Amino acid sequence: MQIAIDGPAGAGKSTVARQVALRLGYLYIDTGAMYRALTYQVILDAVDPNNEEAVYSVLQQLDLRLVPVKQANNVSCCVFIGDNEVTEQIRKPIVSQLVSAVSSHYKVRKEMVKLQQELAKSQDVVMDGRDITTTVLPDAELKIYLNASVEERAKRRLLELKSKGHPVELDDLITQINQRDRLDSTRKVSPLRKAEDAVEIDTTMLTIDQVVERILALAVRRENRV
Ligand code: C5P
Repeated sequence: MQIAIDGPAGAGKSTVARQVALRLGYLYIDTGAMYRALTYQVILDAVDPNNEEAVYSVLQQLDLRLVPVKQANNVSCCVFIGDNEVTEQIRKPIVSQLVSAVSSHYKVRKEMVKLQQELAKSQDVVMDGRDITTTVLPDAELKIYLNASVEERAKRRLLELKSKGHPVELDDLITQINQRDRLDSTRKVSPLRKAEDAVEIDTTMLTIDQVVERILALAVRRENRV
Protein backbone atom coordinates (compact mmCIF):
# COMPACT_ATOMS: atom_id res chain seq x y z
CA MET A 1 0.00 0.00 0.00
CA GLN A 2 1.16 3.53 -0.79
CA ILE A 3 0.14 6.43 1.45
CA ALA A 4 0.87 9.80 -0.17
CA ILE A 5 0.81 12.99 1.89
CA ASP A 6 1.10 16.51 0.49
CA GLY A 7 0.68 19.95 1.96
CA PRO A 8 2.37 23.29 2.54
CA ALA A 9 5.41 23.93 4.76
CA GLY A 10 4.82 23.30 8.44
CA ALA A 11 1.45 21.53 8.09
CA GLY A 12 2.84 18.61 10.11
CA LYS A 13 3.46 16.26 7.20
CA SER A 14 6.74 14.72 8.27
CA THR A 15 5.82 14.30 11.95
CA VAL A 16 2.53 12.67 11.03
CA ALA A 17 3.98 10.61 8.16
CA ARG A 18 6.69 9.20 10.45
CA GLN A 19 4.14 8.13 13.06
CA VAL A 20 1.85 6.56 10.47
CA ALA A 21 4.81 4.65 8.99
CA LEU A 22 5.86 3.46 12.45
CA ARG A 23 2.39 2.22 13.34
CA LEU A 24 1.94 0.37 10.04
CA GLY A 25 5.53 -0.87 9.72
CA TYR A 26 5.92 0.95 6.39
CA LEU A 27 8.97 2.69 4.98
CA TYR A 28 8.94 6.48 5.44
CA ILE A 29 10.30 8.56 2.56
CA ASP A 30 10.86 12.29 3.09
CA THR A 31 11.01 13.77 -0.41
CA GLY A 32 11.53 17.31 0.93
CA ALA A 33 14.85 16.05 2.35
CA MET A 34 15.92 15.09 -1.18
CA TYR A 35 15.33 18.61 -2.53
CA ARG A 36 16.95 20.05 0.61
CA ALA A 37 20.07 17.90 0.17
CA LEU A 38 20.40 19.07 -3.42
CA THR A 39 19.97 22.69 -2.27
CA TYR A 40 22.65 22.19 0.38
CA GLN A 41 25.09 20.96 -2.28
CA VAL A 42 24.10 23.85 -4.59
CA ILE A 43 25.04 26.26 -1.77
CA LEU A 44 28.34 24.46 -1.10
CA ASP A 45 29.20 24.59 -4.80
CA ALA A 46 28.22 28.29 -4.99
CA VAL A 47 25.84 27.53 -7.87
CA ASP A 48 23.01 29.93 -8.77
CA PRO A 49 19.78 28.19 -7.57
CA ASN A 50 17.88 29.78 -10.49
CA ASN A 51 20.17 28.31 -13.13
CA GLU A 52 18.44 25.09 -14.25
CA GLU A 53 21.39 23.60 -16.13
CA ALA A 54 23.85 24.32 -13.32
CA VAL A 55 21.52 22.91 -10.64
CA TYR A 56 20.81 19.86 -12.77
CA SER A 57 24.51 19.20 -13.18
CA VAL A 58 24.93 19.32 -9.37
CA LEU A 59 22.12 16.74 -9.13
CA GLN A 60 23.82 14.49 -11.66
CA GLN A 61 26.97 14.43 -9.51
CA LEU A 62 25.08 14.06 -6.23
CA ASP A 63 25.59 10.80 -4.37
CA LEU A 64 22.40 11.11 -2.31
CA ARG A 65 21.22 8.39 0.07
CA LEU A 66 18.21 8.25 2.35
CA VAL A 67 18.84 5.78 5.15
CA PRO A 68 15.76 4.69 7.09
CA VAL A 69 16.22 4.68 10.87
CA LYS A 70 13.87 2.71 13.09
CA GLN A 71 13.67 3.36 16.83
CA ALA A 72 11.21 2.11 19.43
CA ASN A 73 8.85 5.09 19.08
CA ASN A 74 9.90 6.77 15.87
CA VAL A 75 11.08 6.20 12.33
CA SER A 76 13.06 8.74 10.38
CA CYS A 77 15.28 9.24 7.37
CA CYS A 78 18.98 10.03 7.74
CA VAL A 79 20.33 11.89 4.74
CA PHE A 80 23.81 11.30 3.35
CA ILE A 81 25.75 12.97 0.56
CA GLY A 82 28.54 10.52 -0.15
CA ASP A 83 29.88 9.54 3.28
CA ASN A 84 28.78 12.79 4.96
CA GLU A 85 25.62 12.81 7.01
CA VAL A 86 23.75 16.08 6.31
CA THR A 87 20.46 15.35 8.11
CA GLU A 88 20.79 18.41 10.38
CA GLN A 89 22.48 20.78 7.92
CA ILE A 90 19.66 20.52 5.37
CA ARG A 91 17.19 21.98 7.92
CA LYS A 92 19.11 25.26 8.19
CA PRO A 93 17.12 28.43 7.37
CA ILE A 94 19.37 29.25 4.38
CA VAL A 95 18.42 25.91 2.80
CA SER A 96 14.72 26.58 3.47
CA GLN A 97 15.04 29.95 1.76
CA LEU A 98 16.59 28.57 -1.44
CA VAL A 99 14.96 25.16 -1.76
CA SER A 100 11.86 26.37 -3.63
CA ALA A 101 14.00 27.89 -6.40
CA VAL A 102 16.12 24.73 -6.68
CA SER A 103 13.07 22.46 -6.78
CA SER A 104 11.20 24.52 -9.38
CA HIS A 105 13.26 23.27 -12.35
CA TYR A 106 11.74 20.77 -14.77
CA LYS A 107 14.89 18.65 -15.23
CA VAL A 108 15.48 18.46 -11.50
CA ARG A 109 11.93 17.39 -10.75
CA LYS A 110 11.90 14.80 -13.52
CA GLU A 111 14.98 13.14 -12.06
CA MET A 112 13.77 13.35 -8.45
CA VAL A 113 10.35 11.91 -9.32
CA LYS A 114 12.06 8.97 -11.01
CA LEU A 115 14.17 8.30 -7.90
CA GLN A 116 11.13 8.58 -5.63
CA GLN A 117 9.03 6.23 -7.75
CA GLU A 118 11.90 3.73 -7.71
CA LEU A 119 12.04 3.88 -3.88
CA ALA A 120 8.30 3.24 -3.59
CA LYS A 121 8.18 0.44 -6.15
CA SER A 122 8.69 -2.66 -4.12
CA GLN A 123 7.53 -1.85 -0.60
CA ASP A 124 4.73 -0.34 1.45
CA VAL A 125 5.51 3.34 1.90
CA VAL A 126 4.39 6.55 3.47
CA MET A 127 5.79 9.35 1.32
CA ASP A 128 5.38 13.07 1.97
CA GLY A 129 6.08 16.16 -0.11
CA ARG A 130 4.37 18.60 -2.45
CA ASP A 131 3.59 16.55 -5.58
CA ILE A 132 3.30 13.03 -4.19
CA THR A 133 -0.47 12.69 -4.57
CA THR A 134 -0.51 14.40 -7.99
CA THR A 135 2.68 13.29 -9.76
CA VAL A 136 4.93 10.84 -7.90
CA LEU A 137 2.31 8.34 -6.72
CA PRO A 138 -0.89 9.28 -8.58
CA ASP A 139 -2.26 5.76 -8.00
CA ALA A 140 -1.59 5.69 -4.24
CA GLU A 141 -4.32 3.87 -2.34
CA LEU A 142 -4.57 6.70 0.19
CA LYS A 143 -3.95 10.37 -0.55
CA ILE A 144 -3.93 13.01 2.15
CA TYR A 145 -3.65 16.79 1.89
CA LEU A 146 -2.56 18.27 5.23
CA ASN A 147 -3.12 21.95 5.83
CA ALA A 148 -3.09 24.47 8.69
CA SER A 149 -3.27 28.24 9.08
CA VAL A 150 -0.05 30.06 8.23
CA GLU A 151 0.21 31.43 11.81
CA GLU A 152 -0.03 27.93 13.29
CA ARG A 153 2.52 26.57 10.82
CA ALA A 154 4.94 29.40 11.60
CA LYS A 155 4.53 28.79 15.36
CA ARG A 156 5.38 25.10 14.88
CA ARG A 157 8.48 25.98 12.82
CA LEU A 158 9.50 28.53 15.48
CA LEU A 159 9.43 25.88 18.22
CA GLU A 160 11.33 23.40 16.03
CA LEU A 161 14.03 25.88 15.02
CA LYS A 162 14.43 27.34 18.53
CA SER A 163 14.86 23.84 19.97
CA LYS A 164 17.74 23.39 17.52
CA GLY A 165 19.30 26.70 18.56
CA HIS A 166 18.43 28.72 15.42
CA PRO A 167 17.48 32.30 16.40
CA VAL A 168 14.30 33.26 14.48
CA GLU A 169 11.34 35.65 14.81
CA LEU A 170 7.71 34.60 14.29
CA ASP A 171 7.00 37.45 11.84
CA ASP A 172 10.01 36.52 9.71
CA LEU A 173 8.87 32.91 9.63
CA ILE A 174 5.34 33.93 8.56
CA THR A 175 6.85 35.95 5.70
CA GLN A 176 9.17 33.11 4.67
CA ILE A 177 6.44 30.46 4.81
CA ASN A 178 4.08 32.65 2.77
CA GLN A 179 6.81 33.12 0.20
CA ARG A 180 7.59 29.39 0.05
CA ASP A 181 3.86 28.56 -0.27
CA ARG A 182 3.57 31.04 -3.13
CA LEU A 183 6.61 29.69 -4.98
CA ASP A 184 5.65 26.03 -4.44
CA SER A 185 2.05 26.50 -5.54
CA THR A 186 2.65 28.78 -8.53
CA ARG A 187 5.62 27.03 -10.16
CA LYS A 188 5.05 25.66 -13.66
CA VAL A 189 6.11 22.06 -13.00
CA SER A 190 3.88 20.03 -10.67
CA PRO A 191 2.89 22.83 -8.30
CA LEU A 192 1.57 22.11 -4.84
CA ARG A 193 -2.19 21.56 -5.06
CA LYS A 194 -4.74 19.28 -3.51
CA ALA A 195 -5.40 16.24 -5.70
CA GLU A 196 -9.10 15.79 -6.42
CA ASP A 197 -9.20 12.43 -4.68
CA ALA A 198 -7.10 13.48 -1.67
CA VAL A 199 -8.69 13.73 1.77
CA GLU A 200 -7.98 17.18 3.21
CA ILE A 201 -7.24 17.43 6.92
CA ASP A 202 -6.88 20.85 8.55
CA THR A 203 -4.45 20.29 11.42
CA THR A 204 -4.68 23.80 12.92
CA MET A 205 -6.77 22.66 15.90
CA LEU A 206 -5.70 19.01 15.99
CA THR A 207 -2.95 17.24 17.93
CA ILE A 208 -0.45 15.05 16.10
CA ASP A 209 -2.08 11.97 17.61
CA GLN A 210 -5.51 13.01 16.36
CA VAL A 211 -4.21 13.45 12.81
CA VAL A 212 -2.34 10.13 12.94
CA GLU A 213 -5.43 8.28 14.19
CA ARG A 214 -7.55 9.81 11.43
CA ILE A 215 -5.10 8.69 8.74
CA LEU A 216 -4.79 5.20 10.23
CA ALA A 217 -8.57 4.86 10.23
CA LEU A 218 -8.66 5.90 6.55
CA ALA A 219 -5.85 3.43 5.77
CA VAL A 220 -7.77 0.56 7.38
CA ARG A 221 -10.87 1.48 5.38
CA ARG A 222 -8.88 1.59 2.13
CA GLU A 223 -7.19 -1.72 2.90
CA ASN A 224 -10.51 -3.42 3.52
CA ARG A 225 -11.71 -2.14 0.18
CA VAL A 226 -8.73 -3.63 -1.72
O1 C5P B 1 8.85 19.36 3.15
P1 C5P B 1 10.00 20.33 3.20
O2 C5P B 1 9.65 21.65 3.84
O3 C5P B 1 11.25 19.76 3.76
O4 C5P B 1 10.29 20.64 1.64
C1 C5P B 1 11.26 21.58 1.27
C2 C5P B 1 10.95 22.13 -0.11
O5 C5P B 1 11.23 21.13 -1.10
C3 C5P B 1 9.53 22.59 -0.39
O6 C5P B 1 9.29 23.93 0.03
C4 C5P B 1 9.44 22.47 -1.90
O7 C5P B 1 10.01 23.60 -2.54
C5 C5P B 1 10.34 21.28 -2.20
N1 C5P B 1 9.61 20.04 -2.38
C6 C5P B 1 9.03 19.80 -3.61
N2 C5P B 1 8.41 18.61 -3.87
C7 C5P B 1 8.37 17.65 -2.93
C8 C5P B 1 8.94 17.87 -1.65
C9 C5P B 1 9.53 19.09 -1.39
O8 C5P B 1 9.05 20.67 -4.48
N3 C5P B 1 7.79 16.48 -3.22
